[in-house]
Amino acid sequence: MSKAKTVAIIGAGPVGLAAAAHVLERGLKPIVLEAGPDVGHAVRQWGHVQLFSPWEYNIDREAARLLESTGWNSPEPGQYPTGAELLEHYLEPLATKTVLAPHIKTSSRVTDISRVGFDKLKSKGRDAAPFEIRYQNGQGPEVMRADTVIDASGTWHSPNPAGANGLRALGEQQAAHKIAYGMPDVLGKDRARYAGKTVAVLGTGHSAIGTLTDLAQLAAQWPETKPIWLLRGNDPAKAFGGGANDKLAARGELGAVFAALVAAGQIRVEREFRVSHLAADGPRLIVDTGAGCCGRQVVVDELIVATGFRPDLDFVRELRIRLDPAIECPVALAPLIDPNEHSCGTVRPHGARELAQHEPGFYFAGMKSYGRAPTFLMITGYEQVRSIAAELAGDHEAAERVELVLPETGVCNRVIALDANNCCGGPALSGVDACCVADANAKQESKEGCGCG
Ligand SMILES: Cc1cc2nc3c(=O)[nH]c(=O)nc-3n(C[C@H](O)[C@H](O)[C@H](O)COP(=O)(O)OP(=O)(O)OC[C@H]3O[C@@H](n4cnc5c(N)ncnc54)[C@H](O)[C@@H]3O)c2cc1C
Repeated sequence: MSKAKTVAIIGAGPVGLAAAAHVLERGLKPIVLEAGPDVGHAVRQWGHVQLFSPWEYNIDREAARLLESTGWNSPEPGQYPTGAELLEHYLEPLATKTVLAPHIKTSSRVTDISRVGFDKLKSKGRDAAPFEIRYQNGQGPEVMRADTVIDASGTWHSPNPAGANGLRALGEQQAAHKIAYGMPDVLGKDRARYAGKTVAVLGTGHSAIGTLTDLAQLAAQWPETKPIWLLRGNDPAKAFGGGANDKLAARGELGAVFAALVAAGQIRVEREFRVSHLAADGPRLIVDTGAGCCGRQVVVDELIVATGFRPDLDFVRELRIRLDPAIECPVALAPLIDPNEHSCGTVRPHGARELAQHEPGFYFAGMKSYGRAPTFLMITGYEQVRSIAAELAGDHEAAERVELVLPETGVCNRVIALDANNCCGGPALSGVDACCVADANAKQESKEGCGCG
């Protein structure tokens, strides 16, 4: 057993709670601080979204062990829950019915972390000083001490802005009432906001294509609804994913359905659309790629920005943190997850060694550990915290061991195979004389086809 006794865990999302389970199992004392009023506060915001990984990839092994001792009925491994079901059947019982319950403080937003008596500059004796963690719980600032810290606070609350240069587009703040970030519930609680409207969605990830697919469904009931897809690149097929090649079947299916909607013209596509300005036009919003006369524009009622997320690094500013300059993830992790180089399937499992920081005893885990990379899977996070807890307990051999085999996914940068059944964004719509979506697109543009038919 190492000296580490108290482990502060920031965030009670799937990975923070799994971390608590592993830490407890190792005989250490977890204290989970969660900003929201309930556990899974970020997951709750996207509760309407169906996960693309089935239950078997969404439950941590140690958490399941704790739940089983309460008579929990484990969900059907092959089924795909929504975010709300993940909460109801897994995170909430884990937090309220197991031995984790007394270790979780909700409505406790961490605002600052440092070492007791040490500012960032001071080195001698630093490693032996406990961490000081400040948090807000609505009754003024609270302070706690911990021997180690696992920051599993996710990235949901810091979405990327609309600007193609990574900054807010000029006018973005003033237009805030016309903009939503992430994945609004366009078929459910936010329907009234989007039904019958012209809605631009900016982004190429799964959140963007999921929202556009939902908007196309909304248009089937409210024909005036006009979805517009704004993508910065010029190749829509990149967003279609691996179709039937994707081992996470739900994700492959989403890509194929979306490809078909695009091919059928149900979603207007604006390629190479790099937003720089937003401006009000009466009740509408002008989304603009350049200043005044020279840029391209679309005029919409609503804009949904789904350009990914970035980590909030403000509260770790007083710690000695070293991050990859582009991805904003721990340096050793960057070559494994760089979205310029890797598809999701090539991210090999990793743990304490890759996640260790320049500040001994401090680790990023979960979604936040991936910085700006979009390919995080919960099951990877569970392996991370299993390894970190082992390391904190002094079991270096278990910390080094890899206990996870990831599904080989066919999305991200994977080149789609030129096969008549699975190629180029999935099959074309029935009735369209084309072998696949890319073939249909090419023929629509009076070209010969995509070459695979
Ligand atoms: C729409 C969507 C769909 C996804 N689908 C899948 C999927 O199908 N399969 C899959 O494996 N992964 C999926 N992911 C990716 C990822 O696995 C999830 O986002 C997962 O919730 C990440 O877990 P986490 O615990 O790291 O972070 P989060 O779930 O984001 O939890 C972080 C917690 O920290 C809290 N917090 C934030 N700041 C503070 C603070 N300062 N102080 C205290 N608490 C704080 C938040 O309120 C939140 O509860 C999806 C992500 C999104 C957004």
